Amino acid sequence: MSESLPPLPAGWPTLEPGWVWLCGAGPGDPGLLTLHAVNGLRQADVVIYDALVQKAILDWAPQAEHIYAGKRGGKPSSKQRDISLRLVDLARAGKRVLRLKGGDPFVFGRGGEEAQTLIQHGVNVRIIPGISAGIGGLAYAGIPVTHRDVNQSVTFVTGHDQSGETPQSLDWHAIAKGSQVLVIYMGMKHVEQIAASLLAAGRPMDEPCAVVCSATTPEERVLETTLGRMAADIAAAGLEPPAILCVGRSVLMRQVLDWQALARGEAPRDLDPLGRGRPAEVS
Ligand code: SAH
Repeated sequence: MSESLPPLPAGWPTLEPGWVWLCGAGPGDPGLLTLHAVNGLRQADVVIYDALVQKAILDWAPQAEHIYAGKRGGKPSSKQRDISLRLVDLARAGKRVLRLKGGDPFVFGRGGEEAQTLIQHGVNVRIIPGISAGIGGLAYAGIPVTHRDVNQSVTFVTGHDQSGETPQSLDWHAIAKGSQVLVIYMGMKHVEQIAASLLAAGRPMDEPCAVVCSATTPEERVLETTLGRMAADIAAAGLEPPAILCVGRSVLMRQVLDWQALARGEAPRDLDPLGRGRPAEVS
């Protein structure tokens, strides 16, 4: 397919030796890479990638050395600094470095910290945004992150605090009140506590929720549930991270918008899941 793609237009950025491009890989499906990401992958000498980056994406940089920088098993904070300093070393050695992070590098990905360390060390940096799992992953599940009849705002929240251990320090009461739709990253470990906090803050037991696991990958799994049942249903289904939790009535839209089910030949479950009783686009 790549032969038939038009060449990148003149004037597109060159990944120069000694530079680091901090690049979002999207949630998994290589088709969700940006053209700037592909441009960087094609030029890189070294690609340093995280645990959540799908291996198929590395195929887009066959000429490059691939270095895994997952933080599993290490102490997160010191490991993070090791990764940043490794990027500094590679850049100083004159490499063209592509730092590839899952989703968007600046959404719960410590990309801001990495870029800051690089700049503090005098390394030239370019940031390439990516499609974040909390938007693109939900879209693959047929859940629009905003919908005019559901929400005028959306809150992206992490289920971990800075220590990586507990969501306690987050103000769940304010989060629950803040917007109609909540999109929770890294929420699986503490889902029971998170759901209990949202219920205690007044969100209803029967509020629709979705759990979208390994979104946009061949392992994608989607669970529809309610806030009251979410933790038990996750356990019963044996769902594993990575997953996005979505809390809010936009989840109902999946009954009509589950486009992957439609593509498999299934019928929409409900053409009007919000019960508007009128065509979708009449205002
Ligand atoms: N920068 C990333 C988020 C990194 S934090 C982004 O913008 O998407 C890691 C968390 O992201 C995971 O714990 C999970 O909550 C979410 N995540 C990343 N990829 C995912 C995927 N393919 N499916 C579901 N959740 C995903």
